[in-house]
Amino acid sequence: MTNRQKLVLVGNGMAGVRAIEHLLKLTPDAYDITIFGAEPYPNYNRIALSSVLAGGADMKDIIFNDLNWYSENNIRLFMGHAVTRIDTARRKVFSDKGAEAEYDSLILATGSNPFMLPLPGADKEGVIGFRDIKDCEIMMETSKTYKKAVVIGGGLLGLEAARGLLNLGMDVSVVHIHEHIMDRQLDTAASMMLRRELESQGMKFLLKKHSESIVGRKRVQALKFADGSQIETDLIVMAVGIRPDVKLAKASGIEVDRGIVVNDYMETSVPGVYAVGECAQHRGIFYGLVAPLYEQGAVLAKRLAGVETEGYAGSVTSTKLKVSGVNVFSAGVFKEPEGARSLRYQDEIDGIYKKLVIQDDKLIGAVLFGDTGDGAKLFSLIKKGESIKGREKELLGIAAGGQSESSASRLEAMADDEIICGCNGVSKGAIKDAILSKGCTSVGDIKACTKASASCGGCKPEVAELLQIYAGDKVVSVKEGICGCTTLSRDEIVAEIKRMGLKTIKEVMNVLEWNNEEGCSKCRPSLNYYLGMLWPEEYKDEKESRFTNERYHANIQKDGTYSVVPRIYGGVTSPAELKKIAEVAEKFEVPLVKFTGGQRIDLLGVKKEDLPKMWEELDMPSGHAYGKALRTVKTCVGSTFCRFGTQDAMGMGIRLEKEFERLNTPAKVKLAVSGCPRNCAEATIKDFGIVAIDGGWELHVGGNGGVHVRATDLLCVVKTEDEVVEWASAFLQYYRENAQWNERTSNWVERVGLDSIKQALEKKEDRLALQERIKTALGVTKDPWKEIVEEKELRKNFEPLAGVPASV
Ligand SMILES: Cc1cc2nc3c(=O)[nH]c(=O)nc-3n(C[C@H](O)[C@H](O)[C@H](O)COP(=O)(O)OP(=O)(O)OC[C@H]3O[C@@H](n4cnc5c(N)ncnc54)[C@H](O)[C@@H]3O)c2cc1C
Ligand code: SF4
Repeated sequence: MTNRQKLVLVGNGMAGVRAIEHLLKLTPDAYDITIFGAEPYPNYNRIALSSVLAGGADMKDIIFNDLNWYSENNIRLFMGHAVTRIDTARRKVFSDKGAEAEYDSLILATGSNPFMLPLPGADKEGVIGFRDIKDCEIMMETSKTYKKAVVIGGGLLGLEAARGLLNLGMDVSVVHIHEHIMDRQLDTAASMMLRRELESQGMKFLLKKHSESIVGRKRVQALKFADGSQIETDLIVMAVGIRPDVKLAKASGIEVDRGIVVNDYMETSVPGVYAVGECAQHRGIFYGLVAPLYEQGAVLAKRLAGVETEGYAGSVTSTKLKVSGVNVFSAGVFKEPEGARSLRYQDEIDGIYKKLVIQDDKLIGAVLFGDTGDGAKLFSLIKKGESIKGREKELLGIAAGGQSESSASRLEAMADDEIICGCNGVSKGAIKDAILSKGCTSVGDIKACTKASASCGGCKPEVAELLQIYAGDKVVSVKEGICGCTTLSRDEIVAEIKRMGLKTIKEVMNVLEWNNEEGCSKCRPSLNYYLGMLWPEEYKDEKESRFTNERYHANIQKDGTYSVVPRIYGGVTSPAELKKIAEVAEKFEVPLVKFTGGQRIDLLGVKKEDLPKMWEELDMPSGHAYGKALRTVKTCVGSTFCRFGTQDAMGMGIRLEKEFERLNTPAKVKLAVSGCPRNCAEATIKDFGIVAIDGGWELHVGGNGGVHVRATDLLCVVKTEDEVVEWASAFLQYYRENAQWNERTSNWVERVGLDSIKQALEKKEDRLALQERIKTALGVTKDPWKEIVEEKELRKNFEPLAGVPASV
């Protein structure tokens, strides 16, 4: 360890972390790596924010490297820390939260900031950019209460934001300063076809409009234009360009122009300091797309690993619009410069437009609308700069008979060195090799093996088609498994584990022929859950297969500290308990004490090494606020105090929480009990909600109050408290036995249908059998805090070890 060089990365984003991934492959042990990231998240796919906004992906799906990846690679991560100062003489960086790190080499990968038009009123609430998770969350939240949105900027990002806002149910207008949208990538014909298509999807356009000021009191109410007109709106998203984030570099005396100036090896003007990504300016250009940034990262990694490499020579870029139902591709020069010729094909009936720009017999640019299947091939020709004399018409994709070639034959005819995945620079040859030599049999396998389709996902159809072409006989069995390590689905895996009596993760992977013997961060926790669910009395939980929160029995916070939530049954506490919690909070100098949404007390900002001592002093069970487990049972006061109450909601809630505490479930589970249909405990957005009625209880299932709010479905009505427990036991066990790992009840109920669940729980004997099985599962659980407090060996995991990161 001591001989290792110290490497610090500032910016936990796409370019910087990709450079680190390359470096770890080239030389895993050469550096002690520290990463500072201003955002409170691990490394994620920023490109996929458009899909998150449009409802095509969840935030959790877009994490590239979760917290386990950092600890597995011994990377010290300061998440939520912005570096504010670099002492280039002493080679040290300092964060806004007081962390420091020394370096031998420093990489700046601070990315860009959205350019916000300096309009009067631009500081009002409801005026945002579109850059990060926070912006996405604001848009999703806004759409719940407001209806009208304006996007300023008719470029790629603006249109993706607008499409997402439409999907969120907002009335969306795109304001663009020029006459044609995407005018930096498309010619007039393609731009007009795109506009017509988007208008048919419900998007409105205000073109040739100069925004002048933003009107409103605290919050935006309208956008005014220079021509005196205005449009009413509740939200303005500015998507008018980006500015490299050079603040830190500039303040540290590193040469900065529009971006941080770098040479071909990504070296800045200060020795030992490098820059990659959107913040870097290379040969006068700074890039706003990932493909060139990844190329820069590869060069930098080789430089840092001491591997000989040619310098970075700049990139030609191509773009695709990620809006569903609209295929647009553009690369190189799209408006004919002097001396150039162009070849066009336009089919207004099928909505297809193609244009090639040719100069000196070489392809220098291409625009495709409607049918973008030839994008990769054309982009490759533009990059190679070879003569296309005599092949121009064929390249336009129109064969002699006037028929367009099928995309399969196009892909088959494509040369091996042509690039399929533009973002990650993966060629057709590399994908073919992954299928033929490395046994990849699904798009997921290919993604894991080559990174093709891992970023914007635009090449997924081509990757799938290559799979069809080269997987040959295996083509029938080509299907997506639970992850890239297997082609088996959840149900097939569970059936095989049962049939063959497999008892450990290793055994499952060996017998079911995993293609990656260590598994991955998706399949290991799933298998750990399925084995625990199937063999509750025999299976020994594999802690290493759980995520950080579940390993430490507390929720990790963005500054690396933890939060502690003791169990308070039904949310009902006592003065003595409150005093004890207050004393512990004081003793351990807990910076924040807060009530959670589920009526529990959260002690935030606890150091990892203090956790066991704190649990010991609290002497209360874990509230499992961190796990895929029963979280809370929220209650109202019910008939005990409320004049409307028809049943004892608190008593019922406490009974249920005691019954199911410590229950391991596929995803977190929340319950609530309301004492009458006024439903003060919000039981109808819970996984299992109980609402008292005259003479009985309504049982509701599959609710969710999170990002995708879902009201529950009524499962049945019962009369007694015992029946409530019987049905809750049966429902929860049926969910445990049939849902996919990480699938909330709301998604599960939608996937399998309420009727199938009703049918499974209809007969009393089936319910009792399920109840028996849940009792067995519950019978072997132990309170994890108590176990750690009592077992010295387990406590050791919480002690800080020399040289091991304290923050993750
Ligand atoms: C919605 C959206 C869609 C996109 N779609 C595409 C697409 O389809 N194709 C494509 O190629 N590109 C696309 N892009 C662009 C692509 O995401 C960026 O080019 C890429 O993320 C840039 O990588 P980076 O590492 O330079 O910057 P980032 O990914 O922005 O990472 C920089 C990180 O550094 C952090 N940081 C900054 N200053 C500090 C500091 N002082 N201390 C600590 N941390 C700091 C920032 O918080 C940020 O997390 C899209 C971008 C967005 C926003
Ligand atoms: S749900 Fe009914 S019983 Fe419970 S607090 Fe509200 S009004 Fe009272």
